[in-house]
Amino acid sequence: PPVLEARALRKSYGGVVAVAGLSLSVPRGQILALIGPNGAGKSTTFNLLTGHLSPDSGDVLLNGQSLAGLPPRRIWRMGVGRTFQVAATFGSMTVLENIQMGLISAHNRYRALWPWAGALYRDQAMALLDLVGLGPLGPLPCATLAYGDVKRLELALALVNDPHVLLMDEPTAGMALAERESVMELTVTLARQRTITVVFTEHDMDVVFRHADRVAVINRGTLLADGTPDEVQQNE
Ligand code: ADP
Ligand code: ADP
Repeated sequence: PPVLEARALRKSYGGVVAVAGLSLSVPRGQILALIGPNGAGKSTTFNLLTGHLSPDSGDVLLNGQSLAGLPPRRIWRMGVGRTFQVAATFGSMTVLENIQMGLISAHNRYRALWPWAGALYRDQAMALLDLVGLGPLGPLPCATLAYGDVKRLELALALVNDPHVLLMDEPTAGMALAERESVMELTVTLARQRTITVVFTEHDMDVVFRHADRVAVINRGTLLADGTPDEVQQNE
C-alpha cells in the first residue's frame, strides 16, 4: 500500500468547510508539494494527517493501517514527523538542549530526569545539529537564533523520531532566496538518503517546481490538480 493515504477526508469548523472530501495517496519516498491559496485547507489537512484534528468523515491510513482515533503522540511515534509554520521550540533552552529534549521525548525515556539530564543523547543531538548545519550554534539559547536557523533547528527536531514520513508546513517561510534553496536542498537530500516521504506546503512556486516530485493543488478543500511539476504547470 502507499505510505500515506487520505480517503475522502472532510472537516468543517462550524459552517466553514475546510476540507471537502480530499483523497490523496502518497507512495514511499515521494516528495509531494501541497499548494494552494490561503484558506485552501492545507493546514487543516496536515492536522488531519497527524491526528491533531479528527475528520468529520473519511480516514487516514499509514502503511494501510487506519489512524482513526489515535492521538498525535502515537502517530508521531509511528514515524510521522512534522514541522510547523511557526517553529515550536523552547526559546530559553539552548539549541542543543532543544534537540536533547526532543530525543528524550521520542524515546519516551528518562523524562523524569529532565532537566538534570544534560548528558543524555548529547552525541545524537550534536549529530543532528551537524546534519542541518547548526553544529557551532549548539550552546546558544534558542531565542537568539536568526529565523532561518530556527527553521533548521525545527528540521533537526523533526528528525528525532527517525521519521519515515515528514510533513512540513512552509519549511522555507520568511527566508531569503539563497537560504530557501539550501534548506530545501538539505531536506530533499536527507529524504532521498533515508527514504523519507515528504509532504510540504510552500508559497514559492520556483521552490516547488524545482524540488517536488509531485504537486497537488488544493482549493476550497478539494484537489484541483495533481501530477508532476511539468503536468501541473501545463494545466495552469
Ligand atoms: P490553509 O492552510 O490552506 O491556509 P486552513 O486549513 O488553515 O487553510 O483553512 C481552511 C479554511 O478553514 C479557511 O476558510 C479557514 O478560515 C478555516 N479555518 C481554519 N482553521 C479554523 C478554525 N480553527 N476555526 C474556524 N475556521 C478555521
Ligand atoms: P506525551 O507527554 O503526551 O507523551 P511528549 O511530551 O512525548 O507527549 O510529546 C509528544 C507530542 O509532542 C506529540 O504530540 C508530538 O506530535 C509532539 N512532538 C514532540 N516533539 C516533536 C517533534 N520533534 N516533531 C513533531 N512533533 C513533536
